[in-house]
Amino acid sequence: PIEARSCLPVVGSDTLVPLVDGRTVPYANLDCAASAPALLAVAERVTATLPLYASVHRGAGYLSQVSTALYEASRQTIGAFVGARTDDVTVVTRNTTDALNLLAGCVPADADGRAGRVLVLDVEHHANLLPWQRSAGGATVLIGADSVAHTLDALRAELARAPYALLALTGASNVTGEYLPVADVVALAHEAGARVVLDGAQLVPHRRFSLAATGVDYIAYSGHKTYAPFGAGALVGRRDWLDAGTPYLAGGGAVRQVDLDSVSWGTAPARHEAGSPNVIGAVALAAACDALAALPAGTLEAHEAFLRERLVSGLESIDGIEVVRAWADAVDPVGVVTFSVVGHDPGLVAAYLSAEHGIGVRDGRFCAHPLLARLGYSAGAVRASVGVGTTHDEVDRLISALEIYLSEGPSAAYEIVDVCWTV
Ligand code: PMP
Repeated sequence: PIEARSCLPVVGSDTLVPLVDGRTVPYANLDCAASAPALLAVAERVTATLPLYASVHRGAGYLSQVSTALYEASRQTIGAFVGARTDDVTVVTRNTTDALNLLAGCVPADADGRAGRVLVLDVEHHANLLPWQRSAGGATVLIGADSVAHTLDALRAELARAPYALLALTGASNVTGEYLPVADVVALAHEAGARVVLDGAQLVPHRRFSLAATGVDYIAYSGHKTYAPFGAGALVGRRDWLDAGTPYLAGGGAVRQVDLDSVSWGTAPARHEAGSPNVIGAVALAAACDALAALPAGTLEAHEAFLRERLVSGLESIDGIEVVRAWADAVDPVGVVTFSVVGHDPGLVAAYLSAEHGIGVRDGRFCAHPLLARLGYSAGAVRASVGVGTTHDEVDRLISALEIYLSEGPSAAYEIVDVCWTV
């Protein structure tokens, strides 16, 4: 097992936080699935770029030329990181939510003019559910089965029963870290004439992924979960739908020609990038992609598998804690683990971990209300998630804090931080 302190250095790993008893301790950030800390390499690249930034695609000055070149080079890196094929398009978005909403406006009608329908599972994050539900053709939400094998059977049967333009599937669940085997999913969707989009928000930061190698048609991901700051993400995939779909925002930069009563829209990616682009966000995300891509093959996966195994076996060794799983036979989930301290308010457990141990976790329903309801956790649960900067000490601190919580209880009545009921 890799016991290395971390597999890539992140900023803020030595941050001290106050405890309720007046002590300060190093912050244990076990909430990387919500937003991962920036890599040191990202901070360095951003710092080096700040003096250079100027308008992108909108100026003739030297710095505009530099910024435009940096932006376009970043686009190339952001697409290449997820194995974009030569003719794929990379649209720089704000995040995964933005990317999936954008694609929802591009699902074409069928040959008879009926708006394209989308198939989704009930395990999805709301970002990969709601855009399809309100898209022109709407969505069918398939209730997931209790195993990967049965879920694949259900998908196959539904794809044979009705025509779908698109299957929208999580790359890895933000609740359980589990995923379906992508090769099987692509084969059965393509056989039925449907394309596949992966919600890569929790996949891309944790696993090497390639559109070209898997045949997946589109992937969406977020910079702030991929060790870069907020504000940049991407939609990467096949050009035809993106060239023909509804421009995501109406405004400057997305057009070829505007008259008082008509507009000729450009092609992708410009078609979907109206407004001044986020050059620093794109540069930051590209720096994260470069740093992750430079890790020797398997390093990231081994680091995470080690931490996840330590976390899950620690949690399962404690009486009164249940680890949440959607599929009994899921293989090699990513480092996102949700658990319930049975009979205890998840908000209280999370507040206790923060106030008495300096450990940051997430509680609530994780923007996946249908899944939590089906699995019997409508009152929410607690999620611990690891990343490249996480150490085994941090995981061990969580396990021993939970043991103390269950044996001694909290030392104070905490104000429960109301972060989760709408999300
Ligand atoms: N999908 C999954 C699986 C996620 O975990 C998240 C973020 N929690 C999203 C989509 C949405 O990502 P963002 O908030 O960056 O748009």
